Amino acid sequence: MIAEDPLPRETLMMKCPKCKGRMHSETYYNFVRSYDAWKCTSCGEMIDQTILVNRDRPPGLL
Ligand SMILES: [Zn+2]
Repeated sequence: MIAEDPLPRETLMMKCPKCKGRMHSETYYNFVRSYDAWKCTSCGEMIDQTILVNRDRPPGLL
């Protein structure tokens, strides 16, 4: 019997907040650094770490 990972990889995939489609992770580069972001394969919605962090902060406060 082969020991398998109890969690199939599918459960690790991010789901799109808009269309519930499958998102895949990509590495993007801006002028100062690289960052990982999730992109929806269905509607093109993008979520990156910066967006997620900014969502936890009140607007206008840096
Ligand atoms: Zn989507």
